[in-house]
Amino acid sequence: MLTSLKDRSVIVTGGSKGIGRGIAKVFAAQGAKVTITARGEEALKATCDELNAAGGQVRYELCDVSDWESVRAMVDSAAAVQGGLDVLCANAGIFPQAKIVDMSPADWDHVLSTNLRSAFFCVKAAIPHFEKAGKGRVVLTSSITGPVTGFPGWAHYGASKAGQLGFLKTAAMELARYNTTINAVMPGNIYTEGLQDLGQEYLDTMAASIPLKRLGAVEDIGNAALFFASDEAGYITGQQIVVDGGQILPESLEAIDEI
Ligand code: NAP
Repeated sequence: MLTSLKDRSVIVTGGSKGIGRGIAKVFAAQGAKVTITARGEEALKATCDELNAAGGQVRYELCDVSDWESVRAMVDSAAAVQGGLDVLCANAGIFPQAKIVDMSPADWDHVLSTNLRSAFFCVKAAIPHFEKAGKGRVVLTSSITGPVTGFPGWAHYGASKAGQLGFLKTAAMELARYNTTINAVMPGNIYTEGLQDLGQEYLDTMAASIPLKRLGAVEDIGNAALFFASDEAGYITGQQIVVDGGQILPESLEAIDEI
């Protein structure tokens, strides 16, 4: 049993849908005060209503994580309303597909900006609040794609997710002076709106390639984030955990058939 996070102040970027909504749900169920952010207001409002109907203390802010001023304003506002900042979950991300031969420089920049530059922006904006509190927690949503595996069409995505882990190592050292930890969750294939957009055939193929024979649930990632945010994880920093149902383990198609 982890120490309660009741009334802790939490931000979840990309919290309107998918994994971010799952992270917000897990923290809200703990009694934390949660600000979810995204660009689309309709989904933010729907998620807020759903989590508050279940007893949560959830609010939303519009924010584009690829824009520094937008991130700084959102973090400052959330901290002002929630009485400081304890936990930042930098989760928002996109995964459009394009083979390198077809990928434009703009495609590359869009993905790197949304997925990687945003991690830098979110952490930078949060530092003054962690310094003020004398403590803090950051949890990044990385991926197995990039740091561990490859997938045609996701060279830019994989680079952004591996880049997050490179950022993490030095950030962990720099945040230590604020008694703040930073760690990353590396999801495998998690059943989200974003993944559904890739089509049923993709979902079925991926589920068949996972030793636990199912896609992950968003709460599986939320629970890992909750652990990193807990008091009990206070001596863990600069680390990452794979949450993938064993997806990266099989050495071959035969290996998965043996299960
Ligand atoms: P999703 O269902 O498409 O949700 C993405 C969320 O991010 C939405 O709330 C979206 O809202 C927000 N977002 C996107 N661009 C944004 C921007 N520029 N500024 C602010 N918010 C933005 O995606 P997901 O599957 O939950 O993925 C969430 C994270 O998990 C991503 O970082 C992804 O790389 C990572 N991940 C996912 C999987 C998976 O299997 N699903 C696996 C590994 C890693 P708006 O569009 O309204 O802004």
